[in-house]
Amino acid sequence: VTTISRASYDTIVAGAGPAGILAAYHAAERGSVLLVDAASLPRDKSCGGMIHELTRDALAPYGAIPTDIVLAPEYVNFRYVDWDRGIRKPTTLAFLNVDRAGFDAWLVSLLPDTVEVVGSTAVTGFEQDASSVRVTLKSNGAESIVECTTLVGADGARSAVRRALNVGTASSYVTLQDYVELSGELEPFFDCIYDRSIGDSFGYGYVMPKGGLAIVGSVFYPKTKHPWEKQDQLLEILRAAMPQLGKSVKREACAALYLRSPGDIVPGVGRVLLAGEAGGFMSPSSGEGISYAVRSGILAGKAIAGAADPADALSAYERATSPLRRDIVRRMRWLPFMESRAGKYLAGLTPTWIVSRITEGL
Ligand SMILES: Cc1cc2nc3c(=O)[nH]c(=O)nc-3n(C[C@H](O)[C@H](O)[C@H](O)COP(=O)(O)OP(=O)(O)OC[C@H]3O[C@@H](n4cnc5c(N)ncnc54)[C@H](O)[C@@H]3O)c2cc1C
Repeated sequence: VTTISRASYDTIVAGAGPAGILAAYHAAERGSVLLVDAASLPRDKSCGGMIHELTRDALAPYGAIPTDIVLAPEYVNFRYVDWDRGIRKPTTLAFLNVDRAGFDAWLVSLLPDTVEVVGSTAVTGFEQDASSVRVTLKSNGAESIVECTTLVGADGARSAVRRALNVGTASSYVTLQDYVELSGELEPFFDCIYDRSIGDSFGYGYVMPKGGLAIVGSVFYPKTKHPWEKQDQLLEILRAAMPQLGKSVKREACAALYLRSPGDIVPGVGRVLLAGEAGGFMSPSSGEGISYAVRSGILAGKAIAGAADPADALSAYERATSPLRRDIVRRMRWLPFMESRAGKYLAGLTPTWIVSRITEGL
């Protein structure tokens, strides 16, 4: 982590999550890169740390995921749980179980020294014309303007870069996660829990073992009132059946994209590219976002590095992301079924191997 050394860069990237890091990594092949994050670094993003095979495949060219960030149990399988009806459907979908902060720190460590990484610095606005983007940065209350030829907004679900582009913002789920002490082992599953008693604003909950702790999380529909009380309710319900779940040592609140329409996916405008959740790159049906952030970040960085004229980076990025965008739209089609009472009811009646097969595609 350094300080801002120049008045202009070839590329400025907002957001040091997986999308921004991979975009910076490849954009460095073109020239100077400044990667800023509003949070202090190393950052701590609220996340389940479930690494999908798509992420593992996309990251294989960058080296092996370090073993010291992998938590026990190393792999957990997704299991669909209809709590009120006592139905459990284990699937063949296996996730690598990592410490998310460690995973992000590993990605930062891959960056070449030429990328300047600066924490506690937010992009608060920008102006673009035919030849450059003037980006307003705010750190420790002080504002400065730094110029670049291309700006990448990789600043997550509530992207300020996207908001400034006036292309419409997707709304977001409210998420809460508790890190819970364990007095006994949990089964090696990523349990995704549906429960009607918590009310209609409750999308789903999840439980997974995380080293010596467990994560218990909830995903609430946008604008949910009193999510803390509802998360307490989930914990109470789960503890009654799983007495090994002890007291919570940490609770974190966050936001996750609520993608509903193809128009929610926006690769960028002019000299500004949007990657990861900022651009709407995330699985709308499973909430899996890391593989989409990694893949869109790689494509954004490569589009910048490969464009003969920086003004052409966006069209190259649009072409390159077209299969990813089609994949997200395909997943959106499952949502009305998955979220309906009839859909959840039918899932409970469907043979486990079919649920498993469908889950592989969500
Ligand atoms: C509770 C929860 C659990 C999840 N669990 C999983 C999981 O198990 N597996 C999975 O694959 N996905 C999961 N996801 C989704 C996954 O965490 C995200 O999709 C992924 O991190 C998105 O990466 P990103 O690079 O697009 O953005 P982020 O990782 O969100 O990074 C964006 C960064 O931008 C910074 N920023 C924000 N505003 C500004 C600004 N104005 N200027 C500069 N920087 C700014 C933020 O500080 C942040 O560091 C989960 C999400 C949530 C909320």
